[in-house]
Amino acid sequence: MPARVIPLHDARTLQPALPVAAGRSWPPGQAGSVADALGRPLRDLRISVTDRCNFRCGYCMPKQVFGKHHEFLPHAELLNFEEITRLAGVFVGLGVEKLRITGGEPLLRRHLETLIEMLAPLRTPAGRPLDLTLTTNGSMLARKAAALKAAGLQRLTVSLDGLNDAVFQRMNDVGFPVAEVLEGIRAAQAVGLGPIKVNMVVQRGVNDDQILPMARHFRGSGVVLRFIEFMDVGATNGWRMEQVLPSAEVMRRIAAEFPLVPLSSSAPGETAERWAYADGSGEVGFISSVTQAFCGDCNRARLSTEGQLYTCLFATRGHDLRGLLRGAAPVDDGQLSAAVAAVWAGRTDRYSQLRGRGAPTPDGPRRVEMHYIGG
Ligand code: SAM
Ligand code: SF4
Ligand code: SF4
Repeated sequence: MPARVIPLHDARTLQPALPVAAGRSWPPGQAGSVADALGRPLRDLRISVTDRCNFRCGYCMPKQVFGKHHEFLPHAELLNFEEITRLAGVFVGLGVEKLRITGGEPLLRRHLETLIEMLAPLRTPAGRPLDLTLTTNGSMLARKAAALKAAGLQRLTVSLDGLNDAVFQRMNDVGFPVAEVLEGIRAAQAVGLGPIKVNMVVQRGVNDDQILPMARHFRGSGVVLRFIEFMDVGATNGWRMEQVLPSAEVMRRIAAEFPLVPLSSSAPGETAERWAYADGSGEVGFISSVTQAFCGDCNRARLSTEGQLYTCLFATRGHDLRGLLRGAAPVDDGQLSAAVAAVWAGRTDRYSQLRGRGAPTPDGPRRVEMHYIGG
């Protein structure tokens, strides 16, 4: 049955300007970390550098909604690289240790390697380098891998939903071939970007026959394959629970052919449950955002393409940081920090947990789209 697609509600225009706390600076006199209303620290910032994409994956940017006439953001609305770098520095001062560049398709943003070069020197208040990574559909990776590595990128995640061309092309909906994504992964490995992760969104009846071929292909390659449950993110992908194949079932199918042993999580707030092949040929991950919510230690903030801060993937509103950067009165980094810290301190988001319990959740039709705030 074709996916039901709901027209786009444009959350991009709804954001009120974030107030500047006059004369207030955060943290008072020292760098440090900030906890939200549920005690969760801020550790991870995902930065969307473009709302455009050359794919039209039905679960993210269905063609029926994001067609020829969809208006993407004009260039002047996007945060420029200086603004992104300045904000990233502010977030790092508040405890962020990991930056993920995403989109849309981040490699469509011109001169992205210049941004990587600007972000790479950032250090935590204790002087440690950041974990700097990027998520891409891999379509332009073969061309860009060397420049990204030279600019200071350490590792990356490539999205790939199957090895069978007919299945993959139906999913990306632009006829993009599997071979070119695999070529991109090889190029990234060859220049020393790693460890490389491959994300596969699993939709029951659409690409679940690709689970085992993908596991067989990447086992023993050094690439970590991760299976993501199809999420009800945004408001346009016509999500239905019947299309979710629970991670437990994905794991059962893999373990029937390749026995698995559990691994401990590598960092607090880690989204993937990690398992190793019992024969030592690598690991796989399961991201069970639908069947096993991981809101309890969610430490992720998202910066949209036009500089709105979102504190949850399922949020219905952001907080306008660009307005502070471009406002008539200049703000210093202390004031920016105070504004971000105030937003984070008031954060109570735990959408997936509430949905899992059948409790009321933010208004579906008003939810922001994933290509705009970044995955
Ligand atoms: N274009 C890049 C890509 O596809 O890797 C980066 C942006 S994309 C929004 C980031 C990640 O979100 C991808 O791994 C994608 O598969 C995942 N994603 C998008 N929509 C999703 C959905 N409805 N459920 C689960 N994952 C989704
Ligand atoms: Fe583009 Fe990534 Fe969304 Fe697919 S998942 S449409 S590649 S942004
Ligand atoms: Fe974090 Fe929101 Fe996802 Fe929960 S639903 S894990 S709070 S982004």
